[in-house]
Amino acid sequence: MIIRTLALFDRFQCAAGACKDTCCVREKLELDNKTYFEYQRVIARGDPFGRRMVASISERNGVACFRMRDNGECPFLMRNHLCELYVRLGPERIAETCRKYPTFSKEYGNYREIGCRFSCPEVLRLVLTHPEKFETRVRENDTEPISFKNLDADLLPLIYPVRERFLQIAQDARNPLQATVSILLNLASRVQATIDRKKYGELAALIAPFEGDDPTGGIECETPDPELRDTTLDKLIKLHSKLEYKKQENAARLAASYKIFRSETPDDRLARERDFLAFMRDREYEYRKWIFYVLHRDLLDVVFDGDFYSRVRYAVLSTFFLFETGSLEWKSRGQFTPQMQEEVFRNYAREIDETPKNLARLQKKLNGSAFAYPKLLRAVARSADASAPSPEPVA
Ligand code: SF4
Repeated sequence: MIIRTLALFDRFQCAAGACKDTCCVREKLELDNKTYFEYQRVIARGDPFGRRMVASISERNGVACFRMRDNGECPFLMRNHLCELYVRLGPERIAETCRKYPTFSKEYGNYREIGCRFSCPEVLRLVLTHPEKFETRVRENDTEPISFKNLDADLLPLIYPVRERFLQIAQDARNPLQATVSILLNLASRVQATIDRKKYGELAALIAPFEGDDPTGGIECETPDPELRDTTLDKLIKLHSKLEYKKQENAARLAASYKIFRSETPDDRLARERDFLAFMRDREYEYRKWIFYVLHRDLLDVVFDGDFYSRVRYAVLSTFFLFETGSLEWKSRGQFTPQMQEEVFRNYAREIDETPKNLARLQKKLNGSAFAYPKLLRAVARSADASAPSPEPVA
């Protein structure tokens, strides 16, 4: 099996009790069988801690879960923000979900991909304080592939280099950010058409132009349509406003940003975005990291359902939304520090990207005509003039 890991994880260290937004607060926490079996032995001792364990675990249809507190906290989260199970029973006896977080692992036949979740503040701190590109480590072991049964085994080896090329384009700062997202969308629609025709052998030719010196791969940017950009952004923010937020302060913050957005004229918005781009000139990589994160995690799933384009569209539109909300925060608060960006990304990861109900609702709406291709290309494009940095960034 070929195992690919993000090198970033080598530097990761859980902040534990000092974490500003612990992962021990969540809707549900399932127990794996092995851990549950270990807990049964503790419960069998019949001591007060064992009795508390009984009261803190529920079992339904053979699946054991912790009974989370009303505020979503794990029943074993202590006041000092440490895990009582970790402290009392040791690191090897905490649930697999907790042991593995913030990593995730996905398997595709003989490939295993391991990444880190942006819902963890410590992962984001590492990501945002290291402007350099993501690096991956590749190693091989003798593990047999789990199964090729439910995936398109013909597509897998041919889509893998395509996914690599998409990751490279996302991180290539020779293209301005708005050109990057246009190129990704354009190329994704061609990849999708090729997959739909089952002409997998033609995929290599689609990415070949990026092997030369031209970072655009010969793809020309669409003529921008500022009015369409405006209405698309409006729909995108409105759509996000209708999702269910676990933290009311996140819903309130979005409502406040949307209010500012609606109070601006189209020219105000263009000027704000231009000034924010100028302000973020040396931090543009933050948005590239988000695009990379989503593409790295999601793109290979195409081998299960044949859907490539909508995954790229989600990466692009979530970035579009994050850029806009960051820009609105910058306008209202007069600053936008890397710590503020960390909060914006983390909230998005927790509330939407890793909340299946919200993500499914969002994806369904993104399939609508408001975000249809190729109209979307004109909406995400910006004119060279509008992208030029303003000499006087807004304070
Ligand atoms: S969110 Fe990250 S840093 Fe915080 S407790 Fe969980 S793993 Fe540790």
